[in-house]
Amino acid sequence: MELPYAEPYKIKTVEKIYRSTREQREKWIREAKYNLFKLKSSQVFIDLLTDSGTGAMSDEQWAEMMRGDESYAGSRSYELLRDTVERITGYPHLIPTHQGRGAENVLFSALVKEGDLIPGNMHFDTTKAHIEFRKGIPVDCTIDEAYDTEHYHPFKGNVDLNKLEKVLKENPREKIPFVILTVTCNTAGGQPVSMENIRQVSGLCRKYGVPLYFDAARFAENAYFIKKRERAYKDKSIKEIVREMFDYGDGMLMSAKKDGLVNIGGFIALRNLETYRKAIVYSIMFEGFITYGGMAGRDMGALAVGLDEATEFDYLESRVEQVHYLGRRLMELDVPVQQPIGGHAIYLDANRFVPTIPREQFRAQALAVELYIVGGVRGVEIGTIMADRDPVTRKNRYPKLELVRLAIPRRVYTDNHMNYVAEVLKQIYDTRHEAKTGYRIVYEPPILRHFTVELEKI
Ligand SMILES: *Cc1c(COP(=O)(O)O)cnc(C)c1O
Repeated sequence: MELPYAEPYKIKTVEKIYRSTREQREKWIREAKYNLFKLKSSQVFIDLLTDSGTGAMSDEQWAEMMRGDESYAGSRSYELLRDTVERITGYPHLIPTHQGRGAENVLFSALVKEGDLIPGNMHFDTTKAHIEFRKGIPVDCTIDEAYDTEHYHPFKGNVDLNKLEKVLKENPREKIPFVILTVTCNTAGGQPVSMENIRQVSGLCRKYGVPLYFDAARFAENAYFIKKRERAYKDKSIKEIVREMFDYGDGMLMSAKKDGLVNIGGFIALRNLETYRKAIVYSIMFEGFITYGGMAGRDMGALAVGLDEATEFDYLESRVEQVHYLGRRLMELDVPVQQPIGGHAIYLDANRFVPTIPREQFRAQALAVELYIVGGVRGVEIGTIMADRDPVTRKNRYPKLELVRLAIPRRVYTDNHMNYVAEVLKQIYDTRHEAKTGYRIVYEPPILRHFTVELEKI
């Protein structure tokens, strides 16, 4: 008989979190102008703002921190990281960076020129920004199913091969420096890409002579979905799946704050020496010398250990299944969540949750604030506030979806915390008809307003 899964670790150190009262939270969020980014972390009970850099390290990682070699050039910790990355991915050339966007800056400085097209599957915000900053054009080739939140598809991060081939066929090779595949696809809600799709995308890239790079922040979670959902991979180990996936590409960009299981860091790993040589020019200018690139030796050591731990099945099972456990609890309670549940977060559907609040009054933000006031739980609005104003008309842009994202940090909270979050949401859901009004903006900056916007209650 099969036994249930359980976390493959026990807890050695705990960090106290403060359970405030509703009255305190009402005061704090008012003082924060109803912007959850302006809260102090000490005012939050369960923090689901992001899964980036918020994970817990293991005793082995902390031990490697103590062994960190802080030499400027040729440090042992760099060698450990380089050897680990090569063993896991097969890519021999490593450039450490301070985090994922540092890797984008370095690689794209070397490869992207004005007017270039970069096909991919819903490029992540910072990836898109780094392409557009160089006057390149990200071309979204994701399958149409990814935009339908009620429809089940096991691999909603997949690329539509017809869309991709059209771009590759209709443009000169020199205009397409590479294709970028994001695994799992963050912008689509942490949705995986299948191995079959990766193989086919790789085939098209080779046919047209275009390199394929992975935006690999959640590559291990993607491998877990491949093992669970793609029959041919059911008996393969995560490390075998990961290796096969990277075999289909030419390199990767990594935000180590996700599946690196560290609090800061990133890297570029490449198969091709010539591309590596082009990129290190920029790493020396923007990040640091090639054997540390913005990371302390001890941080490279912790990352090397983290990459091995993140590619173990038992860890991934407890991580992804905890996210799904919260998703299932919410569905049982009839709380509207986006389907299917991805690898790192739950998305509450505010259009179905609080349709009584007018969209002009930022219903997803209203729901996120309510979740904080009722339970001290911090999520993030992905709706009209985050969508910013149209740059030309200066009118609010209303995206199709109004979501509140609850991102689950790795190895940090227990299932009891998940139960607590579900109960809080159930209480809010039961009284949702009383919610009639939302918020109005009293201050906003010209772009990226969600970080600093100030609101008042209507
Ligand atoms: C987080 C992330 C990045 C950017 O990485 P940072 O470490 O935050 O700079 C790039 N791509 C994806 C898919 C990410 O999730």
